[in-house]
Amino acid sequence: MSFNQQLIKWYEIHKRDLPWRSTQNPYYIWLSEVILQQTRVNQGLPYYYRFVKTYPTVHELALAPQEDVLKLWQGLGYYSRARNLHAAAQQVVDMGGVFPQTYKDLLQLKGVGDYTAAAIASFAFQEAVPVVDGNVYRVLSRVYGISTPINESAGIKEFKNLAIKLLDHNQPDVYNQAIMEFGAIQCVPRNPDCTVCPFQNDCVAFNDQRIEELPVKIKKVKIKNLHHHYIVIQTPKAKTLLQQRPQSGIWAGLFEFPFVESDGALLSVEFREKLKQQDWWSGFRFRESVYNQDPIIHKLSHRKIHAYFWIVELDVELKDSIDIKEAFQKPLHILMHRFMSSFWNSYL
Ligand code: SF4
Repeated sequence: MSFNQQLIKWYEIHKRDLPWRSTQNPYYIWLSEVILQQTRVNQGLPYYYRFVKTYPTVHELALAPQEDVLKLWQGLGYYSRARNLHAAAQQVVDMGGVFPQTYKDLLQLKGVGDYTAAAIASFAFQEAVPVVDGNVYRVLSRVYGISTPINESAGIKEFKNLAIKLLDHNQPDVYNQAIMEFGAIQCVPRNPDCTVCPFQNDCVAFNDQRIEELPVKIKKVKIKNLHHHYIVIQTPKAKTLLQQRPQSGIWAGLFEFPFVESDGALLSVEFREKLKQQDWWSGFRFRESVYNQDPIIHKLSHRKIHAYFWIVELDVELKDSIDIKEAFQKPLHILMHRFMSSFWNSYL
């Protein structure tokens, strides 16, 4: 039996029942693919249902304010995905409201790269293009014993060519789903259960005991430490101050407390000095405390943020401050959400 026949046979028995597998609506398939990038199925599922319910058509998504889309996305991270989703929905509407139907045309949509275009084109329109995502790299590198790095151009090309060769042209949708599912639940990154795998006899990684070392990925990123000192304002009328981040860069467009940066942890007196440099600061009352003794650590792909939250109680109201309740309605990044939900949980 060929690789793809065996794979599809495995899939028919083991596949999970997921909502986007029972639709050919390209909009729903696209939503699921964007949500599932960098996100596990269990975590992504409720978001998928929420998006489909709130924006049942691409038109409704296109017409929504960006703030609402980001709010619905909150908790999923990598917010550029949400912004691209929104912008691409507007592109579809501008193109007459018809979803692009080929791999080539899908690539024109904002945020839609090779993988997503292949997924939508094959799942919704049965176009014979292979998907190559992290799961596929893992499966192919192990079964065929390929150690070319998957994040270098030679590797990308080699795996793509192999994927094209293996694709089942009569049912590209089923084949693509099958290989992704196989990587997601059978040939998993750590300790796959090879005893129940249909490829055990032929799998090079299994036979040569190279499972843990495949696929090969070259590490390139140097982690940078950032120290953010967030200023948590509380006014007598239970208001606070938020600011919106710039429209590009990390957490673009999301809201957070004003903050100052430093090379490391700060003493209270140093923090006060920095506070004095803020436009709106004019010697208000200051409760000398930090919410956490230890900073909250948040890791991004190549940055590590150490977040300190300083509580500053003002004895006057401040221009541009908003009710704490209202602050919860803003699209917040994960650090803000974590801090606010714990510190101001009585407002939730
Ligand atoms: S034998 Fe193990 S490593 Fe090889 S494909 Fe199967 S699960 Fe993956």
